[in-house]
Amino acid sequence: MSDCLFCKIVEGTIPSRKVYEDDLVCAFHDIQPQAPVHLLVIPKKHIATMNDCEPEDQALLGHLLLSAKKIAQEAGLEESGYRLVNNCGRDSGQLVFHIHWHILGGETLGPLNV
Ligand code: IMP
Repeated sequence: MSDCLFCKIVEGTIPSRKVYEDDLVCAFHDIQPQAPVHLLVIPKKHIATMNDCEPEDQALLGHLLLSAKKIAQEAGLEESGYRLVNNCGRDSGQLVFHIHWHILGGETLGPLNV
């Protein structure tokens, strides 16, 4: 999508601090980290929200989650643990409408604000 921030990061027209990339997904540092380690994992395919995922995206989503595990391990979070968060839609606080998972860790995180 031409006006999507994360599509531009995928294309490289907006700079990012990428930590992982393959044919289907990429991961980069969040620009406003909420924890000592705060990475975002996204599919290269533009999907706006979880609500827009279709059965045909099953393999992509599985690949993304297994990639997130690998990325968290490479960031040194395997033993200490980490939080994997997806915000979906307005009430969740989703700001960027290209589906993404936050990897948060590097300290003991507080309880979820539910
Ligand atoms: P959301 O609230 O789940 O949509 O999270 C969007 C995240 O994208 C926020 O944590 C932002 O700090 C992050 N973000 C926004 N713009 C950029 C950018 O250009 N590079 C990296 N992260 C960004």
